[in-house]
Amino acid sequence: MNSRNLLSASFALTIVRDLRRTLCPMLLAAAFLIGPCQPGLAQYEALDLGQEEPAVPALPAGGVTLFQNVRIFDGKNAALSAPSSVLVKGNIIEQISVDPAATEAAADVRVINANGRVLMPGLIDAHWHMFLAAVSPAILVTADPGYLNLLAAREAEATLMRGFTTIRDMGGPVFGLKRAIDEGVTVGPRIYPSGAMISQTSGHGDFRSRYEVPRARGGPLSQSELSGVSAIADSPDEVRLRAREQLRRGASQIKLMGGGGVSSPHNPIESIQFTEAELHAAVEAAENWGTYVAVHAYTPAAIRQAIAAGAKCIEHGQLIDEPTAKLLADKGIWWSLQPLTYNADVFARMSPVSQKKALEVFAGTENAYKLAKKYGVKTAWGADILGDAGAASRQGQYLAMMVRWYTPADALKMATADNGELMALSGFINPYPGKLGVVEAGALADLLLVDGNPLDDINLVANPDKNFVVIMKDGKIYKNTLSK
Ligand SMILES: [Zn+2]
Repeated sequence: MNSRNLLSASFALTIVRDLRRTLCPMLLAAAFLIGPCQPGLAQYEALDLGQEEPAVPALPAGGVTLFQNVRIFDGKNAALSAPSSVLVKGNIIEQISVDPAATEAAADVRVINANGRVLMPGLIDAHWHMFLAAVSPAILVTADPGYLNLLAAREAEATLMRGFTTIRDMGGPVFGLKRAIDEGVTVGPRIYPSGAMISQTSGHGDFRSRYEVPRARGGPLSQSELSGVSAIADSPDEVRLRAREQLRRGASQIKLMGGGGVSSPHNPIESIQFTEAELHAAVEAAENWGTYVAVHAYTPAAIRQAIAAGAKCIEHGQLIDEPTAKLLADKGIWWSLQPLTYNADVFARMSPVSQKKALEVFAGTENAYKLAKKYGVKTAWGADILGDAGAASRQGQYLAMMVRWYTPADALKMATADNGELMALSGFINPYPGKLGVVEAGALADLLLVDGNPLDDINLVANPDKNFVVIMKDGKIYKNTLSK
């Protein structure tokens, strides 16, 4: 069969499948209503409708797990619970009992005697790039997409093994990877994808070389656009189109570049990117889809324009001023802030242009956290690593370093319960509806069993290989070093 036939065959199959989806409930409803005067459902069996959905949803692969004798950090409270038991059924935390030796009558229950270890929610990174974090820019622009996806899958597994059970992906082609993880084809965290980062021409997400411009409106896409890393748009209509394209592909939120960035050579850090009308076009598209827009912005002017346009989350913002920080708090806007500080290793690999911009941002980090705390801004934590496998492997260290500004409990709350709240902002298109980032009855069962107390020593999260003895996501155990 040639490729054309193959295409039309698969197209025909899709139509049949769609028809079955539509017709099946209609036929069943009709049969139910007019049943008494019809021979019954048998006539429809000739259509071989098959069984699209099981009548009763089966328990997910996780089965039943009972954690005995755990002390719980629930994602919110700064104190550990008394010794308790936690029962997980399917992908849900079913019950938390104050009896450390609680038992469960269900068959095939997997009992984990934690011996007083700490059970905490899986970590959430609110600003991660699953496709871009660990791949050098040179590989990214030259390698085959299949190879890049395999590298991303490897990094996804490593991310989960660092205890990150959820990431909000703030740009990059991760839709296929997310699907493969969700289907169990490969291993990784839950992914809240943004898809392509939407940028104006010469904005922070315009990765074209100088020789690739100008292009005519509607002209061919550049390499980074074809790969799904970025989408370039100039006008409210184009921004609306690009935003809707991401939503169509499954984005759970939209990411726009609203100001200059560190890693991009063709825009000053002080630049304001897009107009308010352009940003607002994306906000409308997102809100009509039940979700929100997150805007990359460092300076007060860029942040204020994003707020005026209706953005619900500001990414970075290290160069903020005091009145703008207060504005974030007053309006209940999320501040997705990263502990960007000087690191000799990372700095050495930057271009001179980026180094200059990075120093400004590093200098702003201290002030940003001070203001976030002073005004009680809803603050999310994220590591935001790009193109650096070494730094990506140290994801947990970027969380541990938060104790420069916060108590361990506050830092861990940010990376669990608070970030979980931010994930829920995706509204009715939330790909993982349910509570994330907390240990409580009814929440999704993303759990870490820690050897030691991270509320005393947050550095435990920086060495996950050693200190996370059980890693559970969606009720399924991906790591268990305790003997059973
Ligand atoms: Zn980023």
